[in-house]
Amino acid sequence: MRDLRFVVVGAGMAGILSAIKLREAGLTDVTVYEKADRLGGTWRDNTYPGISCDVPSHLYSYSFAPNSEWTHTFSPGPEILAYLEDVARQHRVDTLVNFGAEVRRLEYDGSRWRIETSAGGYDEADVVIAATGVLHHPRYPDIDGIDRFAGPMFHSSRWDHDVELAGARIGLIGTGSSAVQIVGALVDSVGELRLFQRTPQWILAVPNPCIDDADRARYRADPAAMVELRRELGTGFVEGFSDAVVDASSPQLKMLQRLSLANLEDHVSDPVLRGKLRPDYQAGCKRLIISPSFYDAIQRPNARLITERICGVEPAGVRTIDGELHRLDALVLATGFRVDRFLRPIEVIGRGGVRLDEVWAQRPIAYMAVSVPDFPNLFMLNGPNGPVGNFSLIDVAEAQMAYSMQLIDLLHRQRCREVSVSRRAMVRFEADRAEAAKNTVWVTGCRSWYLDDRGLPAVWPWTFTRFREAMARPVLADYELV
Ligand code: NAP
Repeated sequence: MRDLRFVVVGAGMAGILSAIKLREAGLTDVTVYEKADRLGGTWRDNTYPGISCDVPSHLYSYSFAPNSEWTHTFSPGPEILAYLEDVARQHRVDTLVNFGAEVRRLEYDGSRWRIETSAGGYDEADVVIAATGVLHHPRYPDIDGIDRFAGPMFHSSRWDHDVELAGARIGLIGTGSSAVQIVGALVDSVGELRLFQRTPQWILAVPNPCIDDADRARYRADPAAMVELRRELGTGFVEGFSDAVVDASSPQLKMLQRLSLANLEDHVSDPVLRGKLRPDYQAGCKRLIISPSFYDAIQRPNARLITERICGVEPAGVRTIDGELHRLDALVLATGFRVDRFLRPIEVIGRGGVRLDEVWAQRPIAYMAVSVPDFPNLFMLNGPNGPVGNFSLIDVAEAQMAYSMQLIDLLHRQRCREVSVSRRAMVRFEADRAEAAKNTVWVTGCRSWYLDDRGLPAVWPWTFTRFREAMARPVLADYELV
C-alpha cells in the first residue's frame, strides 16, 4: 500500500462527501481547502428569502446519513445547510477544512500536485478532488446603465440582508427557480414588486407539506423507513423526470406539460396575464420550476409582471422598451450563473504544462464528468456535462465519488502511480454525448443554461440508470495507468 495525500477543493456538499469517503476507506491524510469561512457551498451562498430545494429532502440527503428531522417535503435552505454542517461534524471532517483558503493554482509536477492558495499557502498532494460546484459564479446581466442604479442592487445568490425591503418598491429580473421562490417569499412584505420576465416558465404546482412531529418520531425510531422512502422517491424521480428529459417524446414529459398548463389555467384568471405567462416551448426544455404559490403571488395587487423588454437601467429604476420607467428602491438580479466555470478561476496545469484553460478554451469537457486527459490523479465531482439537470446532485456526487475511489484504489495498491483518462476515450465520449443529446428535451427550442456555445446540452444525455451503470465500475481500458 502506498500512503497517499489528498487535497479536496471546496467544502460544499461534494467536498464534505469526499472527505468522509476517503476517511472511510482508511485514507486519512486529507486536507479540504475552502475559500469561505463556513462550509455548505451553494447552501451557504444562497440565502435569498424563500430558498428551498426542488428535490425532496429525503432524497436530497446523503445515502449514508438519512435525516429524521426534515421539517418539509422540500426543506428550506437553512435546514439543508444545518444538515450538511451536522454531517460534517458527525463524521469529524469539519476539522480537516482549511477555511478562508482559496486555491489559486494547481500544478502537476510529474508526480504530485502542487497547490497554492491566494493567501500564499502551499501544499502538495498525490490526488486532488475538485468539489468546486456548478452554479456558483453569479451571472450579471449586461444591461445598459446597470451600474448607474441609485438604490441597492444585488444578485440573488449574494443577498444583501442589510437592505430593508419591507414596504419598498422592488424590481426582480429573471424568472428562473431563484426568482420564483423569491417572489413567493417577498410579495406580502414589500410595497410593490415588479418582476421582469424575458421568457415565461413552465411551473408545476407540487405541494410542500410539513413533515409533522409524529412522522419525524417514526423516522427517528425506524431509520429503515427513511431508507425505504428515499428509495421510493428516487424511483419516482428517475421514472417521472430523469428518464423523461433525455427522451423529448416521452409520455412523462407530455404529462408534466399537461399538469403545468392546468396549473396555469386553473390559477391565473386574467386571460392577458395567462397569455404572458404561457411558455411557447416544451415543458422540461428549460429547468422545470416547482412552485405551488407563484401564480397566486404574481396576481397580488402589489405585484406586476413586466414582459416588455428591458432597454436600460437608470438611477431611478428600470426602463422598458415601451418607454415606461419602473421606479424602484431596490433591484434584485435573479439572472442565473456562469455555468461553464467549474473549478476555474483556479489556474490548473497538468502533465507537460498543459493548461486546463486551454483544454477548455471552447467549452469544458470531462470524461464521465470526472476526468480530463493530461490531468492525472485529479477527479471532479459534479464536473462538466454530468447529470446536473437530471437528478439529485448529492446522489450524482456519491456515484462519482464511488467511481473515483476505484481509480484511487489503483494508486493506493500501487497498481500505478498515475491515472488519467485517455484522449481517445475522451473524444469518443464527447462524440457519443453529442449524438445522444439530439434526443433530449433540452434541444427542443428554448434558451437555457443547459446549452453550451454550440447549442448542445452540457448535460448527461442518457438515462440515470445508464449513469449509475457507468459509475459502478470504471472501464480501465479508457484510462492510462502509468
Ligand atoms: P436561471 O434558471 O438561469 O434563470 C435566470 C433568469 O434570468 C432567466 O429567467 C433569464 O431569462 C433571466 N435573465 C438572464 N439574463 C437576463 C437579462 N439580461 N435580461 C432579462 N432577463 C435575464 O437562474 P436561477 O433561477 O438562479 O436558477 C439556476 C438553477 O439553479 C436552476 O435551474 C436550478 O437548477 C438551480 N436552482 C434550484 C433551486 C431549487 O432547488 N428550488 C432554486 C434556485 C436555483 P431567460 O429565461 O430568458 O434566459
